[in-house]
Amino acid sequence: MHKKVVLRSAKGRLFRPYHPWVYKSQIANLPSGISPGELIDLYNDRGLFVGTGYCNPLSEITVRLLTRRSEPVDVLFFKSRLSSALEFRRRFVKDTNAFRIVSSEADGLPGLVVDQYSEVLVVQFLTAGIEALKPLVLEALRDVFSPKGIYEKSDSSSRRLEGLPARSEWIEKNCGDEVTVLERDIQYRILFGAGHKTGFYLDQRENRLLLRDLGVRGKVLDAFCYSGGFGLHLAAAGCEVLGVDIQEEAISLARENRKLNNLTEERLRLKTANVFDELKSLEKGKERFDCVILDPPSFVKKKSAIEGAVAGYKEILLRSMKLLNEGGLLAVFSCSYHVDETLLLQTVLSAAVDVRKQVKIVRFLKQSADHPIDPFVPETYYLKGFLFHVSSL
Ligand code: SAH
Repeated sequence: MHKKVVLRSAKGRLFRPYHPWVYKSQIANLPSGISPGELIDLYNDRGLFVGTGYCNPLSEITVRLLTRRSEPVDVLFFKSRLSSALEFRRRFVKDTNAFRIVSSEADGLPGLVVDQYSEVLVVQFLTAGIEALKPLVLEALRDVFSPKGIYEKSDSSSRRLEGLPARSEWIEKNCGDEVTVLERDIQYRILFGAGHKTGFYLDQRENRLLLRDLGVRGKVLDAFCYSGGFGLHLAAAGCEVLGVDIQEEAISLARENRKLNNLTEERLRLKTANVFDELKSLEKGKERFDCVILDPPSFVKKKSAIEGAVAGYKEILLRSMKLLNEGGLLAVFSCSYHVDETLLLQTVLSAAVDVRKQVKIVRFLKQSADHPIDPFVPETYYLKGFLFHVSSL
């Protein structure tokens, strides 16, 4: 029997349908002695069962629901969730052996991220609740996937808010320390435990392939390129690419990937630099491009930082538009939930007005299908972007 958590009257209060989060302010009574991550049953103010989830009294998001049915949260529960998540990927993920299998709330498993890199799984336990359920999760993962290795990369800052230490280590290992994954015909080297996220920006796969399939030609600037994501595809398609990233480690990974894919330095030039500075010096040098890709990191982690982020976006947008040849393409992304589609578009328009350019939307862009968007949980829609055709007035 789990402890019982009771919601306040829903009148005038937010309780979003199908949304798994319950904030502290929505709870009428929180039984004492709940340990961080403990399973609880949630009831509404009329005494009706709402669901079972886990509770962290230390967190503002105090309850995250795992199920709205009356069912045990056991290995079978996790196996069933994992199987549905896998089925979804089997239907919608193409061209790769590296993809996200579990995307937290979007797959009904709040706090859990599981990425597959060939035969190895990289897992992230982001909350105290899912941390407490780790033995069940791991048993289910072994049963469903029989992986050759499981690496835990629980190093996100959200763990601190949950009172958890960072952890980055092998849970089991019958594989090498690295693997080469394939995205259509492009290879990327993944070093387990190193680099950003779980090792790669899986969420941009469909956009990388889309740009390639659109037949982008000529000179390309891949700004914020990380390990060469977009640039490798476009260089392989015959473009002349300049990839820029501020981190030396990212650029050296990109160099290795360039070699792995037999691409020359003329096809893909790589540079360690701050994009803000590089755009200025490209402008000074009167360089021109046929396509600019802007895929910056999340400039905003908190709502209060939106203004600064928008100013940053506007600056790189302005400068990129000036670098484009007539009729050039501009791809811009925001991976911050707080800079949404509308705000991103407004910022593009305001930059276009300042530099007297016309823009047309060629494509609306979003995160790849292995990072599903649940419209009942708007936070699951975090990566959005546009591909613009840019011309003079
Ligand atoms: N497009 C990439 C992912 C980019 S993630 C892909 O498809 O894989 C964002 C990248 O921006 C990170 O690699 C980070 O190191 C880099 N970065 C952050 N701030 C930067 C800056 N001011 N100038 C250049 N690169 C920056």
